[in-house]
Amino acid sequence: MGNAPGSLESLRRTNRLRVLQTVQSRGAASRADIVRLTGLSRTTVSSLVAELVSESLLVERPDQQPPPASPNGGRPATLLTLDPGAGGFLGMHFGHDGLRVAVADLSCTVLDEEQRTMDVEEHVGDAFGHACEMAARLLGRLDLAVSRVVGLGVAVSAPVRHDSGAIASPSPLKGWDDVNVAEELDRRLGLPVYVGNDANLGAVAEWMFGAGRGVDDFVYVMLSDGIGSGIMLNGRLHLGATGTAGELGHVVVSPYGFVCRCGNRGCLETVAGGRALTAALSQVTGPNTTLDDVLRLARAGDPGARRAVQDAGRAVGRALSGLCTMLNPRLIIVGGRTGAAGEPLLDGIRASLAREVSPPVNGSVGIVPGSLGERAEVLGAIALAHRMTPAAALTGRAGGSAAGTGTAGGRVI
Ligand SMILES: [Zn+2]
Repeated sequence: MGNAPGSLESLRRTNRLRVLQTVQSRGAASRADIVRLTGLSRTTVSSLVAELVSESLLVERPDQQPPPASPNGGRPATLLTLDPGAGGFLGMHFGHDGLRVAVADLSCTVLDEEQRTMDVEEHVGDAFGHACEMAARLLGRLDLAVSRVVGLGVAVSAPVRHDSGAIASPSPLKGWDDVNVAEELDRRLGLPVYVGNDANLGAVAEWMFGAGRGVDDFVYVMLSDGIGSGIMLNGRLHLGATGTAGELGHVVVSPYGFVCRCGNRGCLETVAGGRALTAALSQVTGPNTTLDDVLRLARAGDPGARRAVQDAGRAVGRALSGLCTMLNPRLIIVGGRTGAAGEPLLDGIRASLAREVSPPVNGSVGIVPGSLGERAEVLGAIALAHRMTPAAALTGRAGGSAAGTGTAGGRVI
């Protein structure tokens, strides 16, 4: 009985999946990474990788560089990825003020993407409709049948509940209370759907593809119209008891400040969110000032815009100081639209951390810009689909029968 538990054949099959899952979870991994992460012997890994490469489930990617931290001298290791040509993933990001949809191959390389500005709040049905239209248009342009898409990852600017994958209530995204995103999109597209909070997924994307590569303890801060964060500890997202950890935008930094959309008063978002930044400058620049105006003026050296951005950075640093003291992260990665403001913003964060965090901890934290910009969240959605698609489904994908098998598991990270 080849399938009997404990038989050699069963063990080999389990180990094949472990190797595939390891490559999947990292996006790309060398043979040495797989040995380290699975605990399998070098000989076993070498043999299984050769088998998976011969079956075109894995491919060697000499074009991709391993993270700089890994090798200490010697020839750089060749990275392995899932075979990019065997299918694709869809990613969607529903932010406060727009949608982004992307299609990637199985190695998570984005093939095409679209972005649309719209008021996502209180227009849930329209947002889903537009996102599905954008996905259909992208797949059409790429001549990629929906049957070859193996999973859809979705990033939403709201806390997502652990248990059901539904949006938590009350949601900071107006009109989205209790919406089950996975069920809704599965109904429309017939794909396995995986849903996560956008800042958490931004953290995953920076870890897999960006400024967090090779770093397993960091906090990703998404500064846009809203503010959120993703906390990566020991290479795993910290989600908290109910899945809503990292709501940095709702840390109180000004107890007698403005009332926040969450119902509390003086949350970081009311001081450093997009609306607060535009309000701070609009006395000088006029009532129609947009966040893009503030960022453009700050980059051009306008003293008022730079001051507003730097003060926002100081508030962000204050909100982060307790987290840094408690968790001792290696990096704070600053992304989102406002993250593009660069040095005035980062200087503000550094100034607050220098004041409020003890020197040994502060000295070990680097404050860096994200390297994926506003795309981090949709890339994280693709990474989520990549990680959550069962390796067994990839090994059995030859017939390309993903369509119509939507599981709407609503798995959340
Ligand atoms: Zn709040």
